[in-house]
Amino acid sequence: MGTTIFTVMSALAAEEGALNLSQGFPDFDGPPALLELVQHYLTHGYNQYPPMAGVLALREAIAAKVLDLYGCTVNPETEVTVTSGATEALFCAIHALVRSGDEVILLDPAYDSYEPAVRLAGGVAKHIPLRPPDYRVDWDQVRAALTPRTRLAIINSPHNPTGTVWEAEDVRSLEALALRFGFYVLSDEVYEHIIFDGRPHQSLCRYPDLWRRSFVVSSFGKTYHVTGWKIGYCVAPARLTEEFRKIHQFVTFTSNTPVQHGLADFLAAHPEHHLQLGAFYQRKRDLFCSLLAGGRFSVKPSAGTYFQLLGYGDLTDEGDSELAIRLTKEAKIASIPTSIFYADRADHKMLRFCFCKDDDTLRRGAEILLGL
Ligand code: PMP
Ligand code: GLN
Repeated sequence: MGTTIFTVMSALAAEEGALNLSQGFPDFDGPPALLELVQHYLTHGYNQYPPMAGVLALREAIAAKVLDLYGCTVNPETEVTVTSGATEALFCAIHALVRSGDEVILLDPAYDSYEPAVRLAGGVAKHIPLRPPDYRVDWDQVRAALTPRTRLAIINSPHNPTGTVWEAEDVRSLEALALRFGFYVLSDEVYEHIIFDGRPHQSLCRYPDLWRRSFVVSSFGKTYHVTGWKIGYCVAPARLTEEFRKIHQFVTFTSNTPVQHGLADFLAAHPEHHLQLGAFYQRKRDLFCSLLAGGRFSVKPSAGTYFQLLGYGDLTDEGDSELAIRLTKEAKIASIPTSIFYADRADHKMLRFCFCKDDDTLRRGAEILLGL
């Protein structure tokens, strides 16, 4: 395998002095109160190993959030584990379950860390392609891909890179198959709070029968504009969490102490922060999309995440990877080609642009795109 596209495109953007709308990270800071809390813990002696499963106060805050938002009662001692970002949680969940020859259902376009982790565990990815403009799951196709070796399905809503969001009926379809065929589910919910137009987030924590066979993963990086802190978590029933921790203990053992304490306090004191995140990013989505209106890109506004796909079929026949590189070098704007997220490299002439940026950055980006 090669180097992840996020590293490749961010490095190229830096080298070319291009506006970087490729890798997903905000160009603004986290809430000042959160930064102060972490600084407090950093300078008041909270700098040694926390418990392997994470700081208990943070696990309690996560359990309270999951109960409050999704009506799911979890035990912070046995069902919540803090990890070094969602990436680590995804890796640990996959390695807790997948053994040589096990099959794992992936819905393409799929986030780029899933398949390498599956292969490293000896598993075999079974790819179900989703197509624009809706990227809806064809459940008959999923059903047809299931075999007695199917161990796990990995899902992601709100979805990176398409910005689509699952409906309740999607979860019901998945639930029916998982219960009938006995596979497990890994639900990547890192964009759970970045969801637009009043849609509810269909966390698997809302579905008790399905949750009993699921790992639900999220990340504070997206929610608090601190992607570099790399703190995420996994919520899973005790028997799955036990297996999860067997891997986690030897991947990182545990994660950064002062940040965990700061997050625990902030979550307890400012529950409103994540509740207004959808509106915060919806305004940026609307700004970016409205600036592009009338241009040559086709725009179907994202339903969630901080990514916007732009179709460029009316502009050029070039492949998306070729175009993303050329635009970075010549037009000085970096994006992510979406074919990279398909096992068969299907090229739907779509580039992914990140809109978690200051309004001025978005205006500059739109100006470049309109000028193409
Ligand atoms: N899953 C998805 C869908 C993501 O977009 C990302 C990163 N943006 C991650 C997982 C990894 O999150 P983290 O940075 O917390 O490791
Ligand atoms: N998840 C982020 C994105 O999709 C990038 C994370 C990373 O760089 N590994 O852009």
